[in-house]
Parts: sequence; structure tokens; C-alpha cells
Amino acid sequence: MTLMQSATEMHEELVHEHSAHNYHPLPVVVVEGTGAWVTDVEGRHYLDCLAGYSALNFGHRHPELVAAAHRQLDRLTLTSRAFGNDQLGPFCAELSALVGKQRVLPMNTGAEAVESGLKVARKWGYEVKGVREDRARIIVAAGGFHGRTISIVGFSTDPDARGGFGPFTPGFDVVPYGDLDALAAAVTPDTVAVLVEPVQGEAGVVVPPADYLAGVRAICDAARVLFVADEVQSGLGRTGHVLATRGAGTDADVYLLGKALGGGILPLSAVVADDEVLGVLRPGQHGSTFGGNPLACAVGRAVLGLLADGGPHGVLAAARRLGAVLQARLAELVGHGVVAVRGAGLWAGVDVDPRLGSGRAVSEALARRGVLVKDTHGSTVRFSPPLVVTEDEIGFAVDALARSLAELAGR
Ligand SMILES: *Cc1c(COP(=O)(O)O)cnc(C)c1O
Repeated sequence: MTLMQSATEMHEELVHEHSAHNYHPLPVVVVEGTGAWVTDVEGRHYLDCLAGYSALNFGHRHPELVAAAHRQLDRLTLTSRAFGNDQLGPFCAELSALVGKQRVLPMNTGAEAVESGLKVARKWGYEVKGVREDRARIIVAAGGFHGRTISIVGFSTDPDARGGFGPFTPGFDVVPYGDLDALAAAVTPDTVAVLVEPVQGEAGVVVPPADYLAGVRAICDAARVLFVADEVQSGLGRTGHVLATRGAGTDADVYLLGKALGGGILPLSAVVADDEVLGVLRPGQHGSTFGGNPLACAVGRAVLGLLADGGPHGVLAAARRLGAVLQARLAELVGHGVVAVRGAGLWAGVDVDPRLGSGRAVSEALARRGVLVKDTHGSTVRFSPPLVVTEDEIGFAVDALARSLAELAGR
């Protein structure tokens, strides 16, 4: 440490010296957040257009969510599932009602929801579909992102995600995303599930062809295979719908939720499905010390309360209306430093002209202009502001992008 160090550099150095180097964050050290805005250790303000990879769909410290957390913090925080708690039942009932499925399996992180969904699908395959022992196969899509556990990275097509972590869990088949013929061809009598994201988030907000999810549904129905939708990032309002799959006019058998379910306050994830599927789990066969804890359930109930307001002033309507503004404003930049824009709702992947700079360089330029985004896959930056963002704030973010691209172009 030297006297010349800024507060940002001092904090970065501590992290660099003492934490694992599994991230390469932008040079911004945040100390406070309210709504769509955060303040850093130097007192600079930023519009948060990443929103914790959609974990902060309702913004930083949404008053109703913080109040729910405080109320529960003063009553009871953890029981383990060895005993009951008075928040678990209402949380499961309210989530199953919102999703329209019979049962909820509460977990903590998104990866745990995915792992749990895979376990349940295999067991359903053996007990309900009648697949022979240890033969179950699950089809996944190339380019997908489902978390960081060994099983999950084992079927990842990202060399960084899987390299050096083998040997991997067998039983997965990878097909191109958006390709129904390839999916149909990969199905065998041992296939128990198809796991896909309705929109591939980490891949750069990749929206599949319009008929894709309905096609997945049809293939699953014809072969008696579970359609497992990983809505950890796409769900709970991001696309303007509770579930992106439903927004696309179809329905999955199993929904995996996480990120925004915990209101940006704590980790809370869930597997949501009908009794035929989740009913395969009996006592002792799956669990989690923190899964279904009363503090997380109380916050989750407040999140569900915000989502249940499907009216014109609710968060879903806001995401649809503001999403259209965001997509239209970003589309104007195509040909002006932007090669392509993809998106759904308040969620956009922007491919910048690689000649202007990497996605990282664009993200750094945006941060200097007070807008936080994160690059992905080389020259893509992703915009996923909280659903409480305003139209003016979207304008501020897109203007900052236009100026950053002009700056990188030397104009
Ligand atoms: C983030 C994410 C996960 C993993 O969630 P964690 O809470 O980081 O474990 C799984 N699936 C999708 C689609 C995600 O975006």
C-alpha cells in the first residue's frame, strides 16, 4: 500500500491479495445502493445496468423487500428442515400459485436449483417413465449457462468453465441451441429431460427462434420427456413475464428459479413442478441446511407479492414498456459502433464492433460515464437494469453507450 493509492485501488488490492482470482471485476468498489443506482467508495454514482445478473430485478434495497427482511430478522432466521417454520408453507403455496404448478422445492443458489432439477428428473425417469437403472440421459443446449458445480460445468461448452475440472458426470447430451431437428434426433428411450434456458443469458442474451420453445414442448410430449426450463435469470420479470417460457406461449414441466427470487438480499432458489415430478422425493433423499429457511422465505414472499401485481403499474408491465424503449433505443445504434442487438423485455445483448474495442473496454468506458454493465464473450455487453429503472435513466444509459462507442472510435 502506498500513500498515492485511491480508495478504489486500496480495496482492489485487498481483494487481489486475499481472494481467489476467479473474477475480473471492473474498477468500481460499491458501498451503497438505492433503486437503480449505486455509489462507490469515491462517492461516484452509477446507474446499475447489470442488476446483479438479474438478482436485483427490483433494484437495490426495495423498501418492501427490506421491510420484510427486517421483520423476519427480528423474529426467526433459521430452523433447518428438521423442524417446521411458519414462512415455508406460505412461501411454497404462494410460489406454486404464481407459477401454476403443485409443488416447490426450496434451495439457495441457482446452481443448486439446477442440480436439484437434474436429480429429480433422473428419479422421475426411473420411477415414473420406467428407464432402466443408471441409464437416464438429459439433453442440454450448447452455449448454455446453468451454474458452476462439477455436473453442470461438465456439460458446458465453454472451455473456461469446464477446463481442468474433469472427470465429469456422465449422462448428458449437448445439442445446438435453437435447433429443433438436432434436439429431436438426440432423444432416445433413455432421455428423461431437456434442460434449456428460454433465453440464453450468459451467452449474450440469445433469443431462440420464435417457435423453438413450443417445439421443445412438442418433442418432450411426443417422447415422454420432461421439459426443464432454467429460468434462474430469465424468470421473475426480466422479460416482462413471471416466466419467459410462458411469455413465449408455452409451458415447461419443471421451472428452475433463483437470482431475483431472493430480492437481491439473500440467495433463494426453487424447483417448481407438479406432484408427478417433485413427488419422487421422499424424506432423506434430498435436502439443504439453508433451503426453505424462514428469512429467505419471508423475503421470497415479498418478491412474489411484487410480481403478483400484474396490473399496469406493476413490475411486469414496467418491464414490458421500458423493455420496448430499451430495445428501440439500442437498435438505433446498429451501424454506429453496434453490430447487433438482441433482447427480450428489459434485457439486451449488444454486440459492439470488435474494431472499436472489446466488450471489456466498452464496459470500462461506460463505467467512466456512470453506467455499470458487464461484458460477455469478447465483444458483447449486456444490459439488464432493475425493473424499477425509469425511461430517462434508460436514455442516460443508451446515450452513455453511444458516447463511449464514439470515444472508442476516436470521434
Ligand atoms: C446465474 C445462473 C445460474 C446459477 O445461479 P447461481 O446462483 O450463480 O448458482 C443458473 N442458471 C442460469 C440460467 C443462470 O443465469
